[in-house]
Amino acid sequence: MKNLTKKSLTKLKPSATLVINEKCKKLINQGKKVYQFGFGQSPFPVPEKIVLTLKDNAHRKEYLPMQGLTKLRQSISDYLKDRTEIKYPEENIMVTPGSKEAMLLMHVAFNGEVILSAPSWVSYEPQAIIGRNKVHWIETTRENNWFPTAKQLEKKVKSINKKNLIFILNSPNNPSGTICKNLKEIAMVAKRYNLLILSDEIYTDLTFCNKYESISKFYPEGTFISGGLSKWCGAGGWRLGFFAVPDKLSHFLGSIKTLASESYSTVNSPVQYAAVEAYRGDYREYKAKTVNILRSVGNYVYKNLRSNNILIKQPQGAFYLMPEFLNNKFKTSTELCETILDETGVAMLPASEFGFKSKKMLTRLSYTDFNGAEFLKANVNGNLLDDKIIEKYAPNVVEGIQKLSNWAKNL
Ligand code: PMP
Ligand code: GLU
Repeated sequence: MKNLTKKSLTKLKPSATLVINEKCKKLINQGKKVYQFGFGQSPFPVPEKIVLTLKDNAHRKEYLPMQGLTKLRQSISDYLKDRTEIKYPEENIMVTPGSKEAMLLMHVAFNGEVILSAPSWVSYEPQAIIGRNKVHWIETTRENNWFPTAKQLEKKVKSINKKNLIFILNSPNNPSGTICKNLKEIAMVAKRYNLLILSDEIYTDLTFCNKYESISKFYPEGTFISGGLSKWCGAGGWRLGFFAVPDKLSHFLGSIKTLASESYSTVNSPVQYAAVEAYRGDYREYKAKTVNILRSVGNYVYKNLRSNNILIKQPQGAFYLMPEFLNNKFKTSTELCETILDETGVAMLPASEFGFKSKKMLTRLSYTDFNGAEFLKANVNGNLLDDKIIEKYAPNVVEGIQKLSNWAKNL
């Protein structure tokens, strides 16, 4: 039988992040030396008390409420109040199997069009395509920290002239590692044009300056927030996320709940109990340490990679940065990444996966190829860590960056 797949889905391919992860694992199994700067996964262990809570709750076999455990939703509500200064009451929060699923359901339910700025995370556009929502792109620049200006956003909104529009904002940002500095101005435009915002706050707690600002503070009535345990808590494989909506838009959560109930039913029970501990417990020390390691490793990569022909913005959060390789040798950033992997063993993702034109020689580099559990045993508090500590605990990062930097000298 032919044409089993819907025409609208035939152009989609498996997500580039998961593909590069599996490709690297395969090369390693074949005995190749690979520097895994492609996939973006926390290198740190889940805090022990949270793991113990999961073990203690392994016997929980009953289905939980569709929207998630009330206690967990209350904890997430308190967490959001603390972080954003805005109250998202527990009844406006939905627990989901990863925030990725929450975003997908949002696209499926949403009757409107989507604005993305390049760079945007790999899955936003494919998810919009699955939900059959038209995507409009805004190009950004390194000078503007890889975020759109309020003027650009306003121009875009006016040119679309559509009633329901949503802009997805992710700060700290995957793939650029930068932080949005003009939240207030963006919020003003959104308010003026009734533009909805989905603030993807999965990297909130990996903000290097430690002062997180959420756009919901400036535009509480129109901001959805998604987040979860994957990044700050090192629990990507546990698949626990959330979606929070403002009071005025709580009816929209009803549609997401219906879709959830008809697909995954409810998130797995033991992980929800463990997540209560993750949101209620005091993990300030763990967060401070992991953030200082990431900040130091990110800074090391930035310092040692940037050159006359590699441009980079200094990382401000998350665990990525976006080097641009100035050259005329390659036709596409995919060809550039494939050649680099072949010739040096360094795996990265081409920025064409993040909304850039394929001829722009930008890549995404995730600097998490180190053993986070070992690194946490060092004295990692306080100041930026010196190179010796990084050489000891992140040898693959150090070696891979050296190889990449030597390779780029011959461009
Ligand atoms: N948003 C961004 C920007 C991400 O990098 C990720 C990484 N997986 C997600 C959302 C989804 O995270 P999760 O589904 O694990 O909550
Ligand atoms: N967020 C990770 C990345 O961008 C991967 C996880 C995923 O794509 O679900 O590499």
